[in-house]
Amino acid sequence: MLEDSFGRRFRYLRVSITEACNFRCQYCLPDGYDGPDNSAFMSLTEVQTLMTAFARMGTTKIRITGGEPSLRKDFTEIIQAAVNTPGIQKVATTTHGARLAKDAHKWAQAGLDQVNVSIDSLDPNQFALITGQNKLEQILKGLDVAVDAGLDVKVNTVLLQDFSPARLTRFLDWLKITPVTLRFIELMETGEHKAFFKSQHMSGQPIKDRLLAEGWQPVIRRKDAGPAQEFSHPDYAGKIGLIMPYSKDFCKSCNRLRVSASGKLHLCLFSEQGLDLRHLLKAGDTDALMQFVHDALNSKHVSHYLQDGMTGATKHLAMLGG
Ligand code: SAM
Repeated sequence: MLEDSFGRRFRYLRVSITEACNFRCQYCLPDGYDGPDNSAFMSLTEVQTLMTAFARMGTTKIRITGGEPSLRKDFTEIIQAAVNTPGIQKVATTTHGARLAKDAHKWAQAGLDQVNVSIDSLDPNQFALITGQNKLEQILKGLDVAVDAGLDVKVNTVLLQDFSPARLTRFLDWLKITPVTLRFIELMETGEHKAFFKSQHMSGQPIKDRLLAEGWQPVIRRKDAGPAQEFSHPDYAGKIGLIMPYSKDFCKSCNRLRVSASGKLHLCLFSEQGLDLRHLLKAGDTDALMQFVHDALNSKHVSHYLQDGMTGATKHLAMLGG
């Protein structure tokens, strides 16, 4: 079992399989991706070695992320490899959702359990403005296909300053009939977007206050739950989650570790350069990997220190997958 010096346990691994993305979200890659192609990143075999080592250390849940993971030609094989790793009970992915309509059934058949889809606005023009892609309709169709394929669907919405009460109302109306969990995520400061953060960060607290005033009830948290606070309402098919990284004690429930597409272990989303695992992955040496990760965990910090403006080496979240 992976446990750090503050008693936090880590059964959840987020694996980035590419840094590339074809969206241009204002808060992430506003000028588009301009980095190495997918051949630079961990191969399927390396990802398999990584997952095997973590599963042997007690990891039960894997999220495949990016960049945009569905841009990898072997994405379905990577899902399958995660599903077939002894010990892994849940496989999730985070995607912009543009390929869901075409591929959700294929991914579900490969054994994917959960998909998180990023939708920052239900207004097509605003969606295009934020993401640089006019694809809201295609993505919403894809969500229906994902639900139909039996996937557990969550939607991620980053809160930006212009997130008006009217926009919230639109999301709430949609949730009345849509059986997904919508998670509002506070914008986090990253190295390349400090000015954007200053002008756009908005607290999730006003949303929480409105939900509680309108009869939403906090969902009892499982012991191993991550940092999202969840709410449900008897009149709504969907649920709401709030991820407020600037709130007090946010890091106390940290239960996840991350590995970047280039094979670096990140003990925190905002840690420094990352600890290189690539030579061990290339060598297929699971025992050495396990020893390395065990030892490294002792240096995990108690907090992300985001509240002090520390963003570590994280230039934008496409580097690591959020
Ligand atoms: N391409 C995939 C997608 O669109 O979801 C996965 C990668 S993306 C980096 C993962 C999640 O991080 C998305 O939901 C995105 O909205 C969120 N994200 C990116 N930058 C962020 C930031 N600065 N603060 C909060 N969330 C952010």
